[in-house]
Amino acid sequence: MKKTIFEKIILREIPANIHFENKDVIVIDDINPTAPIHILIIPKKRINTLNDLTDEDTNLVGKLFQIAKDMAKKFNINESGYRTVFNCNNDGGQSVDHIHLHLIGGRLLNWPPG
Ligand code: AMP
Repeated sequence: MKKTIFEKIILREIPANIHFENKDVIVIDDINPTAPIHILIIPKKRINTLNDLTDEDTNLVGKLFQIAKDMAKKFNINESGYRTVFNCNNDGGQSVDHIHLHLIGGRLLNWPPG
């Protein structure tokens, strides 16, 4: 299977602005931010889409949200508010086949999204 852009970042084959990393997760700035804060919380394990989650991924997905919460505090948007998003497949707007949690904030976000 061809490496995703995020696997290349994890392997340091391409650069990224890394905010946090542990054995399971890496956190980077989105290269095309949609708000003043737009970071991606990415599991190192390649899971193509949310449809591919298995029971063994339950803890991993929980960790992504724990890290999102910590990052929201680090970037001082925890009180003003923020949004966490997983896009899935074409209609969901997913462009990288390696699940990732968007953390977006620093401005008033519209609802519903387009
Ligand atoms: P999605 O559309 O939900 O799959 O989100 C993929 C995100 O990855 C988009 O917001 C892109 O801007 C972002 N992205 C693509 N390539 C890179 C990269 N090299 N470094 C950081 N973010 C990227």
